Amino acid sequence: MQFTRLRLNGFKSFVDPTDLVIARGLTGVVGPNGCGKSNLLEALRWVMGENRPTAMRGAGMEDVIFAGAATRPARNYAEVSLSVDNTDRLAPAGFNDTDMIEVVRRITRDAGSAYKCNTRDVRARDVQMLFADASTGSHSPALVRQGQISELINAKPKSRRRVLEEAAGISGLYQRRHEAELK
Ligand code: ATP
Ligand code: MG
Repeated sequence: MQFTRLRLNGFKSFVDPTDLVIARGLTGVVGPNGCGKSNLLEALRWVMGENRPTAMRGAGMEDVIFAGAATRPARNYAEVSLSVDNTDRLAPAGFNDTDMIEVVRRITRDAGSAYKCNTRDVRARDVQMLFADASTGSHSPALVRQGQISELINAKPKSRRRVLEEAAGISGLYQRRHEAELK
């Protein structure tokens, strides 16, 4: 599975619709301090089902909605959409019938988050599972926050183990086992 496109609308500083094409290979995002580079990474984490506001550097999840600026009023919702190339058919059953998967998450003030996958309503858990099985997701060690490298150096063995499990490609299995235990 390959991410091909990230679209933002009203997410943090990205008040105007923004379309980021992710080509194969390396994509670099450069810009001055405060231009929104970290917000982009947070949008990626968020659309994959992140539900801890602290991971978004906020106090509550609605803090991801554009909060307004001197010349622009605040927005009422934020939406992020992630397109994934699934021509290799690596997505789990239930998601695996199309070449392209588009996951959309929208949060509306006082109404919480809703997810769609190829225009079909899905649960947060379905989206988290989709990405966990592909060895990615909002908790993936492949997403490295600012300052996280120094945290990793000082990490306890248990958190280091998670990085190794991710590298071994078995982290999706944990989530599947957790799912099975809940049923
Ligand atoms: P640095 O190079 O310092 O790491 P950066 O490019 O990573 O900077 P970000 O941290 O992504 O920048 O962006 C911070 C900007 O996003 C700040 O100007 C902040 O005001 C703005 N911002 C964050 N949340 C919101 C929000 N809900 N509404 C409007 N603006 C927001
Ligand atoms: Mg940053």
